[in-house]
Amino acid sequence: MAGVDVGGTRVKSVLADDDGSVLFSHTASTPERPGAGVVDVIVDAVTTLLDLARADGIDGRLAAVGAVVPGLVDEATGSAAWSANLGWRDLPLRDLLRSRFDVPVAVGHDVRAGLLAEFHLGAAKGVPDALFVPLGTGIASALLASGRVVAGTEWTGEIGHVTVQPGGPVCGCGRRGCLEAVASASALGRAWRELGRDGDAETLSLAVADGDPEAIRLWEDAIDALVRVIGPVCAAAGTRVVLIGGGLALSGAVLLEPLRDRLVSVLGHDRIIVTRAALGDRAGALGATLLAMEATA
Ligand SMILES: [Zn+2]
Repeated sequence: MAGVDVGGTRVKSVLADDDGSVLFSHTASTPERPGAGVVDVIVDAVTTLLDLARADGIDGRLAAVGAVVPGLVDEATGSAAWSANLGWRDLPLRDLLRSRFDVPVAVGHDVRAGLLAEFHLGAAKGVPDALFVPLGTGIASALLASGRVVAGTEWTGEIGHVTVQPGGPVCGCGRRGCLEAVASASALGRAWRELGRDGDAETLSLAVADGDPEAIRLWEDAIDALVRVIGPVCAAAGTRVVLIGGGLALSGAVLLEPLRDRLVSVLGHDRIIVTRAALGDRAGALGATLLAMEATA
C-alpha cells in the first residue's frame, strides 16, 4: 500500500503493509507549479518507495495507491478540481494514476485524509465527531461526523475564506477580511511585522506568553475570528474534539486554552476538547494509505 501527499513544498510518501504499519517513508521537494505533471511526481514517489523496499529484500508488490492533494478535490470522481498554487484544474487524477499503476487508486483531499489518519491513529482516535483545523500558510478544515469524514462537494471544508473582518486585510483570494487573512500563521506573522516587530507567528506567540499588549491584541483578534467560524460548525455537527494542526498549533497552550475557553462560552456547554493534532506533517500521507486500503476493500 502506498500513500502520497503532494503538498505545496514537499511530497511526503509512505509504504505500508496490509495492516497499515509503515515500512518506509520518503520526502521529496514539490516541483514549482507541476500542473498535470503531478502524475509523474506521484509515480516517482511510489517508485522510490518500491525501490527502497526491494533494496531491503521486501517484495515490492503494490496492492493499491492513495494520493492526496490540496485545493478543491472531488473524491467521488477522483478529480483534482483546482489548485491555485500547484497549477491544475479539472485534472482526472484517479484515472491518470490508474493507467500508470494498474492497481486500485484512491484520490483524496489532504486535510480530509489527515483527519482520517487522526481518527484511526492520532489525536481523534475513537472520537467519531471531530473537527480538524490546520492553521498554517492558509486555513482549511475537515469534519468527522458520526465516524465519517464529510466530503460533500469540492468546496467542503473551505472555512479559510469566510469573511470575519469586512474591509480587513487582503487575502490571497483577492477579497478582504477572510479568516485566513486574519488568523493563519502567515497572516499573524505578517501583522506582527507590520507593527514593526521582528519574527513570525512563533515569535508573536512567545510575546503573547510574555504579556506584550500589542501581541495579545493581535492574538485575541485571531482567536475571536477562529471562534466565530469554528463555533457554529461545532454547534451544527455536535463536535466533541477540535484538532488544531499546522505551524500555529506548535504555540500550544497559549493558543489552545483561550480557544477552548471561548468555544465553551459561545457553545454554552463544556463538552468540547481543543487539542493539537498528533500526527504532524505525516497525517496526509498516512491518510492516503488508509484511502488506499479502503480502495482495495
Ligand atoms: Zn480569502
